[in-house]
Amino acid sequence: MVVRMKPRRKIHATAASARPLLLIAPLTVAVLLVASAGYSQPLDVSGARLVDLTHSFGLRTVYWPTSPSGFQHEVLTSGITEGGYFYAAGAFAAPEHGGTHLDAPIHFGEDGHTTEEIPLRQLIAAGVVIDIEEKTALDPDYRLTRTDVLEFEARHGKILPGTIVLLRTGWGRRWPDRKSYLGDDTPGDASDLHFPSYGGAAARLLVEERGVAAIGADVASIDYGQSTDFTVHRIAAARNVPGLENLARLDELPETGFLMIALPMKIAGGTGGPLRAVAVVPADSER
Ligand SMILES: [Zn+2]
Repeated sequence: MVVRMKPRRKIHATAASARPLLLIAPLTVAVLLVASAGYSQPLDVSGARLVDLTHSFGLRTVYWPTSPSGFQHEVLTSGITEGGYFYAAGAFAAPEHGGTHLDAPIHFGEDGHTTEEIPLRQLIAAGVVIDIEEKTALDPDYRLTRTDVLEFEARHGKILPGTIVLLRTGWGRRWPDRKSYLGDDTPGDASDLHFPSYGGAAARLLVEERGVAAIGADVASIDYGQSTDFTVHRIAAARNVPGLENLARLDELPETGFLMIALPMKIAGGTGGPLRAVAVVPADSER
């Protein structure tokens, strides 16, 4: 849609005159809610904590060092139109793999699901957080081990099929400082990256033995920074398990007992895509 623009000077007057209309809308909704009290209750999240696990996309968004570009966003138009109302629209472009994003199985598996083929049940499911912050504090190249997973299960019980597993390394707090987050900020060079993530044996246990729905982490990759063979990506892709990368605020989640919603832009034929991830944490949860 293209709308011809007038000069911007009337913005404030127009915004003020529009306010009474905006007030009417919530009142109407309230009346409708009272009138519909007989409807069956959908999932009630009114008492839950909603945790935003996505870093905002913008100029500082971290992309892989070899990525051809970062996040591009341009304002196409913004101002008062000839009709006297405000109108704004923009355009964006971005590589699929950068910022908080999803890796579709086809990213490392020729026959794997593309972004739009991933079943919703793999993207909306019960979540767990495996915390390895104590280990990553001593070793930035730390990889989650099979023993780490078994120790988690000794405390919480066996991880159920269809669970979304999140790895908390503590690296999310370093975002968006590229040098600190990736271990190196040399443009075009991904050979000296240092950050923790999953190890191969742990990934095999989760993906092949436990049948998890997806695996995610608060780092740039589900393989650690020094990986050259991308073992974890390949293990996950072979079983059509997507990856969730560059997640934010995992330190606000309990270890178990929350609902994970991880919905990427539905790119046809995509190998991944920008992700809006949210956790629904019950009010009585410990963290
Ligand atoms: Zn990716």
